[in-house]
Amino acid sequence: MDNYIVSARKYRPSTFQSVVGQKALTQTLKNAIDAGKLAHAYLFCGPRGVGKTSCARIFAKTINCMHPTATGEACNECESCQAFNEQRSYNISELDAASNNSVDDIRQLVDQVRIPPQIGKYKVYIVDEVHMLSTAAFNAFLKTLEEPPHHAIFILATTEKHKILPTILSRCQVYDFQRITIADIAEHLQYVASQEGIQAEAEALSVIAQKADGGMRDALSIFDQIASFTAGNITYNAVIENLNVLDYEYYFRLTDAFLTTNVPATLLLFKEICDKGFESQHFISGLSNHLRNLLVSKDTSTLSLLEVGEATAKRYGEQAAKCDTRFLYKAMDLSNRCDLDYRVSNNKRFLVELMLIQICQLSMPAETTAQASQPPLQSIKQTSPQQAPATQPAPTTQRAQQATAPTPQAQPTPSAQSYTPRPATPRPAAPRQGMPVPSIRINAQKTEQPQERVKRRKPFTQDDLVAAWLKYADTIPDEVALYNTMQTHKPTLKGEIICKVDVESTIQQSLIQVTRDALLEYLHNTLENDYIDLETEIKISNERRVSYNTGEILVAMKEDNPNLAKAVEMLNLEIE
Ligand SMILES: [Zn+2]
Repeated sequence: MDNYIVSARKYRPSTFQSVVGQKALTQTLKNAIDAGKLAHAYLFCGPRGVGKTSCARIFAKTINCMHPTATGEACNECESCQAFNEQRSYNISELDAASNNSVDDIRQLVDQVRIPPQIGKYKVYIVDEVHMLSTAAFNAFLKTLEEPPHHAIFILATTEKHKILPTILSRCQVYDFQRITIADIAEHLQYVASQEGIQAEAEALSVIAQKADGGMRDALSIFDQIASFTAGNITYNAVIENLNVLDYEYYFRLTDAFLTTNVPATLLLFKEICDKGFESQHFISGLSNHLRNLLVSKDTSTLSLLEVGEATAKRYGEQAAKCDTRFLYKAMDLSNRCDLDYRVSNNKRFLVELMLIQICQLSMPAETTAQASQPPLQSIKQTSPQQAPATQPAPTTQRAQQATAPTPQAQPTPSAQSYTPRPATPRPAAPRQGMPVPSIRINAQKTEQPQERVKRRKPFTQDDLVAAWLKYADTIPDEVALYNTMQTHKPTLKGEIICKVDVESTIQQSLIQVTRDALLEYLHNTLENDYIDLETEIKISNERRVSYNTGEILVAMKEDNPNLAKAVEMLNLEIE
């Protein structure tokens, strides 16, 4: 390790051509040099590690080169170039304003500026992190910047352009450096790896590039670190372990679970991720990013927005093909809302779990019906009374029934035919996730039934309803949480057809929501009544709401109801 040189230094670019990811900018600089149109002051702006200082050095070398090449690069052979390459040229001086920001430091620099160069034509002064100069130092510098000697060129570099005084800005030619793309960084790392005889998986380098966030210097230093840790064999697994990056694999699996409406799988995956020590919020932004990547993978015109390695890009393409665009939009929206609500939520884990359940619901078969445009969990309770088959359809709030299940009597009449269902009727604003709606009503929507079939409407009693309800529960003994919820929360019959269930939490409400279609179908068939509708309401006594926090409510609820305690345990639910 005696001769060990960090890669960031060893592979520092020495020509404009070798600067990674700033092609347009380096071309402009070359053109200016070629045309002999040099300014006295330049301002290089951009994030750290994107090549500002490197470009400044190359620029200084090139304008002093005695035999520049036909492509506008320094020859790297003449006396001046060699002096630059061996770091003994007097024509370049660098000042780091982060550590030398006093008036005295600037005065020293200003004094030097007067002395013309011995060899070459220009002396170049690089002031790094120029926004760190004190106001007094800035002012001392301004005079020199206003009337510089003809041999002096200043290159000011900053990561914070907005902190530069207008008086300075107006005297400089400004160059904005871009973040280097992940593909460019990964490609350069691959080059460095090949030069160093290091084995590196493309996906591993892509993750390093992402972690470096557009900065080559950081990327190279992470690269060095992992190369030494892995003894020169940089694998994807080693990288994610070292950088504490969450494996993409989780998001692919999670999305597969979404697409098959596998709620338990998503909850268990989320738990596994938490157990590995990843922050929930970190997880949410990763999920948002994954969904976004799926979306851009669906269209070839947006494929360039996908910043991942080749193998991963292929997987995104495959998974994207399975996702409906509308599903992705809605899932992104849910994930984004979860992110926004996260900071203010008292029960962060639950918030994330609810989001996962909601995304799962997007893939439920009901979504493909006429009501697909409305958020699944969030149908606002409809206040109008229930219609008997013979009554006229009530106005707008009965829209769903009109559009999807016209009454047998009304259907053939001309007036009913002239009625245009308007699925696009504006809906009341959907309630925000994380703030449970006090009452949610689920519409019975059965568009897939053949039109000719006459709907059944056999009267039934409260006891019939409860019996059917419990019989349904018996068909799902493996779904412990739902089974217990149904056992302990029996419905009451409201009016003739409303099956009303009071629950204590949004999780119970969600459990019933998830099974609603199957449950309603079962009730319709068992009770021979196709008009049965389901309504759930969260009832928490006021006393508890005032004097308990969520954790305490859960404890109290568990005491009241041992089955709930069992469900919480089996699902590994937690309140943070
Ligand atoms: Zn030269």
